[in-house]
Amino acid sequence: MALVVQKFGGTSVADPERIREVADHVARTRRRGDDVVVVVSAMGKETDELLRLAADVSKVRPGREMDMLITAGERKATALLCMALHDAGVPADSFTGSQAGFITDADHMNAKIVELRPERLREALAAGRTPVVGGAQGVSAQTRDVTFLGRGGSDTTAVALAHALDAHSCELYTDVSGVFTADPRVVPSARRMSAISFDEMLEMTANGCPKPAMRSVEFARTWNVRLHVRSAFTWEPGTWVQEEDPTMEQAIVSAVVHDTSEAKVTVTGVPDQPGIAARLFRLLADRQVNVDMIVQNVSDHGVTDISFTVPHEDLEVAREVTEGLQAEIGAAGVSTDHDIARVSLVGAGMKTNPGVAATTFETLAAHGINIEMISTSAIRISCIVRQAQVEQAVQVLHDAFLD
Ligand code: ASP
Ligand code: MG
Repeated sequence: MALVVQKFGGTSVADPERIREVADHVARTRRRGDDVVVVVSAMGKETDELLRLAADVSKVRPGREMDMLITAGERKATALLCMALHDAGVPADSFTGSQAGFITDADHMNAKIVELRPERLREALAAGRTPVVGGAQGVSAQTRDVTFLGRGGSDTTAVALAHALDAHSCELYTDVSGVFTADPRVVPSARRMSAISFDEMLEMTANGCPKPAMRSVEFARTWNVRLHVRSAFTWEPGTWVQEEDPTMEQAIVSAVVHDTSEAKVTVTGVPDQPGIAARLFRLLADRQVNVDMIVQNVSDHGVTDISFTVPHEDLEVAREVTEGLQAEIGAAGVSTDHDIARVSLVGAGMKTNPGVAATTFETLAAHGINIEMISTSAIRISCIVRQAQVEQAVQVLHDAFLD
């Protein structure tokens, strides 16, 4: 008998029929002889609706009240799922994050777990009951207020519980059947991978793959919690995310991912002296701008250009900060560009195989796709291209490396 954590995303529990299907699946798992701890998200698009409601009601939106509001979505889902579980013959109890022992800091809308004491869940399991825990929530030890772990936080709840309860694995049920070699909407021939390493999954989520939530993959890697990303619609086996098997040869390229969520800022004619980049990026950091790719050109006659990318929502602040600094650092100009996108190849085998960069650039060139910025890690190559060409870039690179 093993313990599994099963997390169900919003689409998996979007309506009464879905909730009953999920309950049946949990019942099947119990009949197989396994113990289950269930984690649920809010039903369907409820989190978005609650956020919209708050925006309609208030300009201030105090963090304490926002967290109380948003976590109500998950709380509702836990109670309904428990009712369906009772009908399916599975004794089950709902728990809020606080009742489940999630102690967090007081950073509302983005709280971090500082301690997990799942005593009540252990007691429920020992009594033969199935605990159903509200995802993405906890309580601050300091203020005793309810906290929300942030968007996608239910994945983190599930991974943290799998670690704390020493579960065999953490199953993340969603509306896709696993992790694919590219977005199947862009590349119809994309394949579901049967397994992928934590490192590759992290690179993928950091570069545009929307699920699982990046923070949960980080936790899973740190604590070595095996993830199984799978569908709550077909229930077929999905993709295992786990430690790399050192005895297996690694795929040179495992996946092509893309990201259209960023914009580019370029500062031209910057004096090439120590301290200029430090000043610029310190000011951006102070304003919480999340800078991603940074490229500085070779300097010419003592001046250079610096380009960097930021999430679209940070662009205005980034522009303001950069323009504010322009005179002080003696730069010639600042320009911004919304219409960029990033295409990235990820693969653990890149570490030891030459030629991936060359083939990537040749493939893009053969299709007239211009590369505007390049960045790499040991297992990733990313190129910034025109947003209008990014889907084609994904297709031709998938053809070149994965078809
Ligand atoms: N319902 C929350 C959200 O949509 C938490 C989660 O699903 O992980 O962000
Ligand atoms: Mg979700």
